[in-house]
Amino acid sequence: MTIGWHFDNTYSKLSDTFKEQIKPIPVTNPELIILNEKLASELDLNFSKIDRNELSKILSGNSLPKGSNSIAQAYAGHQFGHFTMLGDGRAVLIGEHTTKSNEKYDIQFKGSGKTAFSRSGDGRAALGPMLREYIISEAMNALNIPTTRSLAVVKTGENIQRETPLQGAILTRVASSHIRVGTFQYIAARQKEDELKTLLDYTIDRHYPEIKNSNNRALDLLNLLIDRQCNLVVNWMRVGFIHGVMNTDNMTISGETIDYGPCAFMDTYDPKTVFSSIDQTGRYAYCNQPVITKWNLARFAECLVPLIDKDQEKSIKIATETINSFEKKYEEKWMNMMRDKLGLFGLDDKDKFLILDLLTWMHEKKADYTNTFCHLMNLDPKKDKLFEDNDFKNWKKRWEMRTLVNSNNQNKSMDLMRNNNPLVIPRNHKIEKALEAAEQNDLEPFNKILKILEKPYYQQKEIIDYQLPTISGEKYQTFCGT
Ligand code: AMP
Ligand code: MG
Repeated sequence: MTIGWHFDNTYSKLSDTFKEQIKPIPVTNPELIILNEKLASELDLNFSKIDRNELSKILSGNSLPKGSNSIAQAYAGHQFGHFTMLGDGRAVLIGEHTTKSNEKYDIQFKGSGKTAFSRSGDGRAALGPMLREYIISEAMNALNIPTTRSLAVVKTGENIQRETPLQGAILTRVASSHIRVGTFQYIAARQKEDELKTLLDYTIDRHYPEIKNSNNRALDLLNLLIDRQCNLVVNWMRVGFIHGVMNTDNMTISGETIDYGPCAFMDTYDPKTVFSSIDQTGRYAYCNQPVITKWNLARFAECLVPLIDKDQEKSIKIATETINSFEKKYEEKWMNMMRDKLGLFGLDDKDKFLILDLLTWMHEKKADYTNTFCHLMNLDPKKDKLFEDNDFKNWKKRWEMRTLVNSNNQNKSMDLMRNNNPLVIPRNHKIEKALEAAEQNDLEPFNKILKILEKPYYQQKEIIDYQLPTISGEKYQTFCGT
């Protein structure tokens, strides 16, 4: 019985400019911690006949599957606004697995050892951050938000040195590709138009075949990415997700969320929420995410300038106008998303006031973002006294009137709300507890939280334990997953 890998290594066939040919550095004592069997089966992979020892070797990169051809990808990026040449410094792409329905997925080992792009890093990753990426990326997928996925985590049996020694681990990341805005920046910086064309062709072939024969493929690609990234950030805003490190190298061309380092979900509604310890100025705060999305898209547009029009001035003008369409698109999508959260059908001139008044109240009263919407669905986990507040009650009356205007059917409204408001998100204190236990070889809390987060829109037994924010009130801080 074979696993069912079908590798098609199209990226590794690109010229050496795009990558370094390199194998994962073998690890001493790989031990499988978790395998995502559901995802495996979605990918037409079957690991059930492979013993755990062999699985550990395969999913650590110690034993590479037939047909794979591993590489580290080159890319650049604006990190907190500063341009840097980067690349996979601690990851290798072993190839693109093709499913029976002909979908291609990158299979990447993260934490697989040094590459030509490692700079001063050790090429390794720690167990905690890899398990954290596993939980949050899978939670995002269950929330119906485009994301890279996590197939497995393997402990390496080696310690890595951070502030203290930590257990090393490797995550198998699955993505519809790892082409980033930063990949375009890397190639554009080399100022060779043929290379840029190669990347454009490759990207369109892989992600946007619908514009293959269009008259201005670069411009069409820009418009499509604006749309995808706009949808993505609206989805993040919907569930209170704060990415934390929206550098251009962490923005995909597929429109999937990537790189779960210092990300976290907001509890109390505060637009300025920042969790990342390195984000001193709040560049990537909750409310800045749409602004930064536009900024990153502008960097993408700059890369495409040589391909949009032969006349540079004209090209810049077109690119600028295109980028400036972002605000209007975002505003429209955001309003619709908020209408969905409130179960509102159709449009009403006063919708914006209704929405903003609720957000202002939540901010002033330090209300929990997720649980306020649960309250509106009559599923408040805590029966919070906060909602007895008169201002809130008055707002609720306005809202109830509005729900009746266009749908005239409360069940329909409730269905819409139930599809858009999660009952449970990855609460920071619950994740931390699960990770602490996992570090001590107790995987029960980790498996339990994964199970609950599989169905965030459903009322489940034991869900209440996962719905409340921390009571300690301590400010939560995250660190880059290095
Ligand atoms: P990230 O903050 O994870 O998006 O990573 C930014 C850049 O640093 C990427 O080029 C990574 O490959 C690289 N990097 C992060 N951690 C390490 C590490 N431990 N060793 C080598 N490179 C790393
Ligand atoms: Mg990154």
